[in-house]
Amino acid sequence: MNKHIAQLVQLQGIDLELDRIDGGIRAEEDALARREQGIVLRRETIEEITAAIKELEKEKKLLEDNMADKQDQVRERQAKMMRVQTSREQQAILKEIEEAKKVVKENEERILTIMQDVEKKHARIAEEENLIIGETKLIADESKRVRKAVTDTNAAKKDKLSRRAQEAAQIDAALLRKYEMLRKRRHGIAIVKVEGAVCQGCHMKLPPQQFNLLLRGDSIYECPSCQRIVYYQAEGGA
Ligand SMILES: [Zn+2]
Repeated sequence: MNKHIAQLVQLQGIDLELDRIDGGIRAEEDALARREQGIVLRRETIEEITAAIKELEKEKKLLEDNMADKQDQVRERQAKMMRVQTSREQQAILKEIEEAKKVVKENEERILTIMQDVEKKHARIAEEENLIIGETKLIADESKRVRKAVTDTNAAKKDKLSRRAQEAAQIDAALLRKYEMLRKRRHGIAIVKVEGAVCQGCHMKLPPQQFNLLLRGDSIYECPSCQRIVYYQAEGGA
């Protein structure tokens, strides 16, 4: 294998290991962040339920005031009944009493519904709070574990990074720049094998003439489709 190609393959091997390490750390941190976000959402739910309870209690207070007024009205009309003479007047007062009582009854029913609803909502809040307590503890443990894993991983990464620096130092500067640029633009894969004239990066077939040049292995070639640096490796050898 061409010396430059061999160096790049070696470097990419290290870079991919580093990518895998970084990816692993990121995945753990993301998972942790998602769990923390879950707690934020639970807190928001509690706030929403608390606001809904406040509204229901406001409504309940209005209903109670209205009910008290109507009860006063009933008492007042009942007293008035004693004083009226004609049955027409009595009928009118009875109707008023009946209507006031009806409102009292409706309010009582609505208040009862509200109280049941508020009770359910308080239970839901308690449930959310319990879940938050449990989850917060689990997250604290998990966070400790992730921090330790990150520390351990960074120690392992240090060796790889110094190995990478050594490898990179030996590579022709212009070629290294091209490699770095391709890594950025091609999902971390800058140099790929060609198997049976097919680029293993983008799976496009190389034109026969270019494949023949590649087989000679005396220069650096790139895939005409994905622009990655390509190389050919004979079966079982370098
Ligand atoms: Zn390609």
